[in-house]
Amino acid sequence: MHKENQPLIFEISKEGRIGYSLPELDVPETDLSGLLPEGLLREEPAELPEASELDIMRHYTALSKRNHGVDSGFYPLGSCTMKYNPKVNEAAARLSGFANVHPLQEESSVQGAMGLMYDLQEHLVEITGMDEVTLQSAAGAHGEWTALMMIRAFHEANGDHNRTKVIIPDSAHGTNPASATVAGLETITVKSDENGLVDIEDLKRVVGEDTAALMLTNPNTLGLFEENILEMAEIVHGVGGKLYYDGANLNAIMGKVRPGDMGFDAVHLNLHKTFTGPHGGGGPGSGPVGVKKELIPFLPKPVLVKKDDAFTFDYDRPQSIGRIKPFYGNFGINVRAYAYIRSMGAEGLKLVSEYAVLNANYMMRRLAPHFDLPYDRHCKHEFVLSGRRQKQLGVRTLDIAKRLLDFGFHPPTIYFPLNVEEGMMIEPTETESKETLDAFIDAMIQIARETEENPEIVQEAPHTTVVSRLDETQAARKPVLKYNRPETAEPVAVN
Ligand SMILES: *Cc1c(COP(=O)(O)O)cnc(C)c1O
Repeated sequence: MHKENQPLIFEISKEGRIGYSLPELDVPETDLSGLLPEGLLREEPAELPEASELDIMRHYTALSKRNHGVDSGFYPLGSCTMKYNPKVNEAAARLSGFANVHPLQEESSVQGAMGLMYDLQEHLVEITGMDEVTLQSAAGAHGEWTALMMIRAFHEANGDHNRTKVIIPDSAHGTNPASATVAGLETITVKSDENGLVDIEDLKRVVGEDTAALMLTNPNTLGLFEENILEMAEIVHGVGGKLYYDGANLNAIMGKVRPGDMGFDAVHLNLHKTFTGPHGGGGPGSGPVGVKKELIPFLPKPVLVKKDDAFTFDYDRPQSIGRIKPFYGNFGINVRAYAYIRSMGAEGLKLVSEYAVLNANYMMRRLAPHFDLPYDRHCKHEFVLSGRRQKQLGVRTLDIAKRLLDFGFHPPTIYFPLNVEEGMMIEPTETESKETLDAFIDAMIQIARETEENPEIVQEAPHTTVVSRLDETQAARKPVLKYNRPETAEPVAVN
């Protein structure tokens, strides 16, 4: 239901109105006929809205105010690190020497850009404890898949053709089993114990001669540190499998412990999460993959190398899994990550982890009396609450999420991980002030109180947003409702 009358751009359109003013053409007009095949040309001009520049600006400014982003409000989306991205990194990425290089330029003319990527790789090697890093992969899931393809190639190069199983905990991020499947491997689930950690006995039961890899994130998706990681590494290595680390969110351990030292053989990072690439809405990502020595020959090619003081791309990699992305990854995101790492320094990155963990534990302890805390132990950068107590009073976790919108907060990740009933996965991140954390906590406590005293207000939320509660299934299945032009029919109202 529309609460406020925001016309569509087609409704403010007036025939003949133009959004720009340019001087008369003082050169001959170029004849474009013949440039495109006849069959592809429009017979009639497209029906585009016609509006003045000012009306267009106002229209889109009004729409932008309806968006929720990190720059407009708190965004505690667990397992996603929606944190403030320092604007100085944006300034660095917009420097014309970085923003205007062309990927097909001669190597000799882009040595600076290649040097930045090389240096970034070296920093990531240090941060992860790996031996080499590629920046080619464009996102987290792409990085997972790239690393699994390398692990698969490694086993095949050893004549180990039956290593086709990837072991994944039941709390894992959904991309893990998806990447394994796309890499042509089979997934086996390993159970969590009552503390939310991988059940070691179950792990021993599922590993074997067919194990290609164990895919794990530590801290895991419940925000808990796998204390038995060294023993787990021994078990998996003992049967000839590899250990893969999902490092999408490194902001609990960065500068503290390294996946390489925990026994992992491969890792991906999400530079668009931990290393301040702005993300959300499917914007560009960067998911570098780091590997230990044994896997280096299988890195995707080309590999960025330094030769006689110059940077060059090495294509001579006979065992490489091949190219996985046009050019060499998403350069702009890599520039931001580089600027972030250099401006923070080693001490700064360590502080990031400390603040992320402190903020999450502070919030968890203050909320624990009001909601169920399925795993009552120190958390890392995120924690999981259960809304089962509220469910007994007729209020679902979805209702709580909707009610948070009335307080101006983006809801946490909900109904995830799958092994927690009515789960809410909350990640405050390292960049929020105590005042912001307190405001969110107060809102959550108020919602818990409303659930007991006046559940309808939660069940019918949101009350203050532009649109009231949407039909989730309809919104997911049919994100764009067909627009009917006003002269032929009533405009379709959302919901
Ligand atoms: C975000 C995330 C991923 C996937 O990263 P994308 O860039 O969205 O593909 C994988 N694992 C974990 C734990 C994540 O949080």
